[in-house]
Amino acid sequence: MTKKIPMRKCVGCMEMKEKKDLVRIVKSPEDEIFLDTTGRANGRGAYICNNAGCLKKAIKNKGLERSFKSQIPADVLQNIEKELS
Ligand SMILES: [Zn+2]
Repeated sequence: MTKKIPMRKCVGCMEMKEKKDLVRIVKSPEDEIFLDTTGRANGRGAYICNNAGCLKKAIKNKGLERSFKSQIPADVLQNIEKELS
């Protein structure tokens, strides 16, 4: 029996990857956007590779804005970038 591996699309490079290889960025019901290190935070989630390069791509291609249907403040992006390895 093969177990189905959950796949998610990175909003930066747009590649499908295993969920465990991606990090989740979440927009909470209170409209806070942050890196969801637990993977269980409430709200709308977007997935991204665990590197700053894909975050930069996601900013450039507006992938995050599209996922969250809102603008993302620059300081929020900076915080997320700092947390990405
Ligand atoms: Zn990526």
